[in-house]
Amino acid sequence: MKQEYAVIGLGRFGGSICRELCQEGMKVLAIDQDEQRINEFKNIATYAVIADSTDEKTLLELGIQNMDHVIVAIGDNIQASILTTVILTELGVKKITVKAQNDYHEKILNKIGAHQVVHPERDMGRRIAHSLISSNILDYLDLSDEHSIIEVMASRKMVGKTLIDLDVRAKYGCNVVAIKHNNQINVSPRADLLIEGDDILIVIGSNKDLARFEKELIAD
Ligand code: ATP
Repeated sequence: MKQEYAVIGLGRFGGSICRELCQEGMKVLAIDQDEQRINEFKNIATYAVIADSTDEKTLLELGIQNMDHVIVAIGDNIQASILTTVILTELGVKKITVKAQNDYHEKILNKIGAHQVVHPERDMGRRIAHSLISSNILDYLDLSDEHSIIEVMASRKMVGKTLIDLDVRAKYGCNVVAIKHNNQINVSPRADLLIEGDDILIVIGSNKDLARFEKELIAD
């Protein structure tokens, strides 16, 4: 059965989530208090409704409690974002993802029971910063405050060597969890596998260790 989503707040972030979900064929209820925004999404979302998400009765009438996943993408109005999240948790919504504006907002959202808190501007900033350090760094993902995963293109220093030669674990404290070769992914690669020119390595470690790994093995 198709998953049912609700997106509350149709700014650039919420709007783009709503568009993508609809494009992927999901059922999406789009909610915004602004009539103009709702008009924009009338022909995109499955349902588009003008409503104030801080009004519990209205949310209940819209059947929000039956949604598989609700995304709260209210921007500047932190109070409305928090109040909406409280109502959704009290109604027992299965999965609630909320966009945070800053670290304090994020802390509160975690405390009041949001299942996932996203911080798109900060996360994208970090990713871009890492790709600026080296064009070999293709992606960067926070696992916690202290640990991350990076996806890196095999650098000059790696090509023609094995994981034993590079001794990544002992030298940098990081683990190569997978190597992508010609679109095939090799999970837990053997230590004697030879790294080739177009290979992509997926590496996990503490931010401190990854920074050393990036600086010594991949920086241009
Ligand atoms: P971005 O455009 O980058 O996503 P943003 O996160 O600041 O920026 P806004 O432009 O502030 O997003 O958009 C948030 C949307 O949320 C607006 O369309 C606004 O009308 C809507 N919104 C704010 N409060 C409520 C509320 N209580 N109920 C429903 N919609 C709301």
